[in-house]
Amino acid sequence: MKRYTIATIPGDGIGPDVVREGVLALEAAGARFGLSFTFLETLMGGAAIDATRLPLPPETLATCQGSDAVLLGAVGGPKWDGLPGKSRPEAGLLALRAGMGVYANLRPAFMFPVLAAACPLKPSLVEGGIDVLVVRELTGGIYFGERGRSADGESAWDTERYSRTEITRLLKIGFEAAMGRARRLCVVDKANVLESSRLWRETAAAMAPAWPEVALSFMYVDNAAMQLVRAPRQFDVIATSNMFGDILSDEAAMITGSIGMLASASVGASGPGLYEPIHGSAPDIAGLDRANPLATILSTAMLLRHSLHEEEAAAAIEAGVGAVLAQGWRCADIASGAPGERTVGTQEMGRLVASSIAAGAGAGAAAGKREARP
Ligand code: NAD
Repeated sequence: MKRYTIATIPGDGIGPDVVREGVLALEAAGARFGLSFTFLETLMGGAAIDATRLPLPPETLATCQGSDAVLLGAVGGPKWDGLPGKSRPEAGLLALRAGMGVYANLRPAFMFPVLAAACPLKPSLVEGGIDVLVVRELTGGIYFGERGRSADGESAWDTERYSRTEITRLLKIGFEAAMGRARRLCVVDKANVLESSRLWRETAAAMAPAWPEVALSFMYVDNAAMQLVRAPRQFDVIATSNMFGDILSDEAAMITGSIGMLASASVGASGPGLYEPIHGSAPDIAGLDRANPLATILSTAMLLRHSLHEEEAAAAIEAGVGAVLAQGWRCADIASGAPGERTVGTQEMGRLVASSIAAGAGAGAAAGKREARP
């Protein structure tokens, strides 16, 4: 029996609901593949502010740093919106990412074939499926740059700043990810305007000879936003800065059907990774058993794969999700009203996936699911 310690951060809003189902999926996969998990629940975000006044208590960071991997729900909500920037729940998340040294965020936007009806694009545009991996820089750029307000409060600034080292380590993950997929890497920037983007281009071009099999291309971010809805199948791996990646990965997520389906992994050079759904705390549906837990459950598959190197267990979770979807089970956000669909709540969806994993059913049901393994 292999033993792993997983720090969990349920967070706020729907966070606790979806993390509970993620834990169930891990336990089901663990029971099947001889893995034993110790879950250490910790506080962050609004829940931590209420309990300790700090969005990221030092003990939470220490627990995360000492674990094999971290599973996070989501943080934030209207209750804490009035707080100043550094005291807000989101500040806890930025500090956690920085404290764990996870500088690359991998966001696969994959459309399960049975969910094609939930895709808002014309069927002709997505025929053959959507499978884009956004590799977003996570600990630099404008979200971390110098910011301020003028003395009279009438102007404000935020600074986009990147070093060659930060760009290189992010692009390395992009190139490696592309090697495990269709071998196409598109670096998205705004190099016609921003000096920092020109450094991204220069760095990527200098690195390209080390990956001769990867076709490297560049695209301006405004064009990329348009191309993602015009012809999403042209993309394989997109590598980009923190803010551009934040926006494009949400767009890529939405064209696959629902934000409730998209997982993410944040990794660094070493140490535990941070795994979370890309959605937020969804205060509008918190506590209503309406949150789709599949993004979090699929994040646990990424956790098994990238941090624990338990590929079989990871694939079993993805297959479990695929099998449950193929049987017609849907959460409200991915229900299309097609015949044969049955809509269930958060807990029932989690239970169905866990039983499917335990039963070993659905192997191959996620066929075609191909997530990058940098
Ligand atoms: P959101 O992702 O929470 O919600 C956007 C919309 O998507 C809502 O209509 C919501 O109901 C729906 N949705 C989100 N997740 C869903 C799921 N699993 N199942 C079904 N529907 C789902 O984004 P928002 O409304 O802009 O932000 C709400 C709060 O979350 C804010 O406080 C924001 O700061 C925070 N937030 C946190 C994170 C994070 O913790 N990583 C990320 C984004 C936003």
